[in-house]
Amino acid sequence: RYPLYINVYTRIITYWGKMLISPENKIVYTVYRYLFSQHFNSDCKSPWIDCIQRILNMCGLQYVWQNHNFVNIEWLSATVNQRLKDQFMQIWSNDINCSSRGQVYKILKPYFGFEKYLDILPVKLRKKFIKFRTSNHRFPVETGRWYNIPLNERLCLLCNKGLIGDEFHYILECSALEEIRKKYINTKYWKRPNFFKFSELMTNCNCKSLRKLCVFISKIFDAVCSS
Ligand SMILES: [Zn+2]
Repeated sequence: RYPLYINVYTRIITYWGKMLISPENKIVYTVYRYLFSQHFNSDCKSPWIDCIQRILNMCGLQYVWQNHNFVNIEWLSATVNQRLKDQFMQIWSNDINCSSRGQVYKILKPYFGFEKYLDILPVKLRKKFIKFRTSNHRFPVETGRWYNIPLNERLCLLCNKGLIGDEFHYILECSALEEIRKKYINTKYWKRPNFFKFSELMTNCNCKSLRKLCVFISKIFDAVCSS
């Protein structure tokens, strides 16, 4: 979902725009003109007018503010809404790409939008899957972060092969989980594993294979917790 402020800001600007095109003898218009002149000609500042100006500036619509003029109300509303969404998307994508903790998440979440697995999975499995996707777990790659252990020293304690204990390792690599993996994950994924296969497996929305993947994830959680 887009954050609520986008709707709020759009409605603020739409209201402001409707007011500007309303008949000049309408009381709300008269009050606005008074507020506007007080805001710029005295110490009596209006936070609401500041807010309008700030939103229009954010949207690159300074000329609309300066001229108090725009194409029409539909255009104003749609333009503000779209620009706020575009800006949010840019920040969202940048935050994920720059987050050291979001390394797995950015592979699993290339697009902004609702995830089908939320509708497909039963609550119990869904919770496990969400924990896995958001690195809300106790894999060495995560617990090592809590103690400032360098990334290359956050090793898997299940197989002891000197490999980093991260999501990719447990799902496709760890030899200690080989037998369980065979039961739940299609061979094509873990034979010669790579990040492309990992991404394909994790974003697969086939109900049966998604359920099997989540059961496997539950078993990984159990195994790592008891190690
Ligand atoms: Zn391992």
